[in-house]
Amino acid sequence: MTNIHFSNIIKNLERVSSIIDIDEDIIEILSSPQRTIHVSIPVRMDSGNIEVFQGYRVQYNNARGPYKGGIRYHPYTGLDEIQALAALMAFKCTVANIPFGGAKGGVKADSTKISKGELERLTRGYIDKIYEVIGPQKDILAPDVYTDAQIMAWIMDEYSKRTGYNVTTVVTGKPIEIGCSVERGGSTSLGGVIILKKALGLIKTKTSDTKVAIQGFGKVGSFIAGFLVKEGFKIIAVSDVSGGIINKKGLDIQEVLKYNQKTGSVTGCPRTDKITNNELLELDVDVLIPAAVENQITEENADKIKAKMVLEMANAPITQIADGMLEKRGIIIIPDILANSGGVIVSYFEWIQDMQAYCWSEKEVIKKLKDIMITAFDRALEKSKSCKTSLRMASYILAVEGLSTAINLRGK
Ligand code: NAD
Repeated sequence: MTNIHFSNIIKNLERVSSIIDIDEDIIEILSSPQRTIHVSIPVRMDSGNIEVFQGYRVQYNNARGPYKGGIRYHPYTGLDEIQALAALMAFKCTVANIPFGGAKGGVKADSTKISKGELERLTRGYIDKIYEVIGPQKDILAPDVYTDAQIMAWIMDEYSKRTGYNVTTVVTGKPIEIGCSVERGGSTSLGGVIILKKALGLIKTKTSDTKVAIQGFGKVGSFIAGFLVKEGFKIIAVSDVSGGIINKKGLDIQEVLKYNQKTGSVTGCPRTDKITNNELLELDVDVLIPAAVENQITEENADKIKAKMVLEMANAPITQIADGMLEKRGIIIIPDILANSGGVIVSYFEWIQDMQAYCWSEKEVIKKLKDIMITAFDRALEKSKSCKTSLRMASYILAVEGLSTAINLRGK
């Protein structure tokens, strides 16, 4: 896996300042995270030995509200990547206009190769090291790549042990039995569907005629596959880290979901043919949805992408050079900081509901999510027209303008 770099964020900030008139001080402030934490976490492994894992938490900016961001457990994660992802979180919350700043955390670990007990001790050890800088009004955690609701439950428990009372609001994406909100599990994907339905007009396609390929079949990829099929889209290919599957007539997503649950992978699912992840990205589809990891569309394969639209459900799946190549070819990109903000929006709802100890109905959550996502999309589209720029740069402009206003109001 190649990681996203913080230098990419700086380049995009420079692009923003070449399009709009923005105070140089703001670009200077946004060119560094406010706080960067690197910790060593000793964990007693099942073998009896101690293994020391490296953990990170980056708090990029809190001008608009408490830091907020997921944590990932991945063998290739590192500080540079976490810094970039923390900045993306701040931009995402600003584009969605929710009162959070941006943060991100990571632990260099292969969670597929460690036992459940080791995973729990690692998680509790990580919280032990960063406890003082997180909290419901300071920095709120959430799931990301290879972390899940169970890990969020351990985080809540470990944090609460130190306060002496339950603090549900230090983490979102918890199991519904120990906090709100309904829909958090599928919220990133639900948000993506809301945006995709709005964006279809840009490629003049109807739902029932829209062929989709999805890379990644984890929390985001599997949920969006299920939602899209319900909406009438035709999904012809999906993949995970071990490869992809295709059925040109349309996959039976319920069967793929069941097969994936049983075997831990989509590959080998009956009534499908095998393809590679690279072949999936290059399929002749209307909409391509990268929902796995960073830097999947690069200068190597950008010219082979045939989709009319790319919905970035993963964070930073397209490199900067590839982004320019796709844009030149007229391929519409719905950028990550707009497309995948459903998760942090429902996280915001979870935080509010937990503070009030009052859970909203599913109808209420979905309606509020739709309102926020549609407003964000309309604002980005409007900005792209007024600044004659791509949806990505329009979203970055909205983010920098929003952060700039807050920074200036509070005083630099
Ligand atoms: P996940 O761990 O649940 O799933 C990741 C999926 O990607 C798995 O199917 C895995 O097999 C696959 N994968 C991993 N490496 C791959 C590779 N090199 N090639 C192809 N497939 C690969 O993670 P997730 O929560 O679904 O997150 C996916 C993406 O969405 C990430 O970029 C994440 O940052 C982003 N995202 C997630 C959320 C959320 O709420 N979970 C919110 C916003 C953005």
